[in-house]
Amino acid sequence: MAEALVLERKGELALRDIALPDQLGPQDVRIAVHTVGVCGSDVHFYTHGKIGPFVVKEPMILGHEASGTVVQTGADVQHLKVGDRVCMEPGIPDPTSRASRLGIYNVDPAVTFWATPPVHGCLTPHVIHPAAFTFKLPDTMSFAEGAMVEPFAIGMQSALRARIQPGDVGLVTGAGPIGMMTALAALAGGCAKVYVADLAQPKLDIIGAYDGIETINIRQQPAAEAIAEATDGWGADVVFECSGAAPAVLGLPALARPGGAIVLVGMPVDPVPVDIVGLQAKELRVETVFRYANIYDRAIALIGAGKVDLKPLISATLPFSDSVAAFDRAVEARETDVKIQIRMPEA
Ligand SMILES: [Zn+2]
Repeated sequence: MAEALVLERKGELALRDIALPDQLGPQDVRIAVHTVGVCGSDVHFYTHGKIGPFVVKEPMILGHEASGTVVQTGADVQHLKVGDRVCMEPGIPDPTSRASRLGIYNVDPAVTFWATPPVHGCLTPHVIHPAAFTFKLPDTMSFAEGAMVEPFAIGMQSALRARIQPGDVGLVTGAGPIGMMTALAALAGGCAKVYVADLAQPKLDIIGAYDGIETINIRQQPAAEAIAEATDGWGADVVFECSGAAPAVLGLPALARPGGAIVLVGMPVDPVPVDIVGLQAKELRVETVFRYANIYDRAIALIGAGKVDLKPLISATLPFSDSVAAFDRAVEARETDVKIQIRMPEA
């Protein structure tokens, strides 16, 4: 038995003992979990009991943004040793699947992902994970930063899908955690400047503090007008939709330059209308993002090299014993909170 933060059913969390498999395979590592980030998807399972087709039907441990220390290695593990500080990629594909062989294991129908029903997450003191999806952290990175690699990887995947060219002007709609990660990844990926549009000024203040980021408060000025002013009427080279809000999706064609790109990152809860002719009239390229593949090592390299600083986005750190309070605070969705993290007790 192990203690864990368990989502019993929609709206009900418990910090309690639960029986977990304890088999360390030859290619697995056992990790003492150190820090776990609270993600919007965890919160959504808590408040709604489902995301799309994924429905919580039995008690499930939450959490998928984690770092920790290797405490045991399987017989065949070569690249990790006991004591290594690591972060873990939470999606485990079937390595023999057609999608995996194509390098797109994030869309492998057989992928199992932490804290996506019925798979348990990592808010428990120890996890067993495939070594192939466990990444050593450089000495320059803290455990807290290690637990930020997961959300940053989505920003990285978005920047990759955008096919940014050096000097591009980027625009991000929606300044939630993923919008912020995407803006920073777009800058690291070569954008000269990235505009971030939202209606919550506290969020814009947080992301606007970074060099290279300009903010647009859409309560004061429509995003299309602001980006037109900023680009002599031309539009952004790359627009990242990170709000999932229907009006933002409908308004996308007006934000991009002719021949530019739209990257759909945010996930609307229900289907939303799209202005197809608007997209066609500028011959915009539309890309979609679902999680990430083959990106963790690059994300760690950028953070470890000091090119991306995610520390200002960690708003609060609560002890594991206060996990339920951490989730309830995340449900509040304070405009000054970006990422709330949970710190596991010292092993
Ligand atoms: Zn997440």
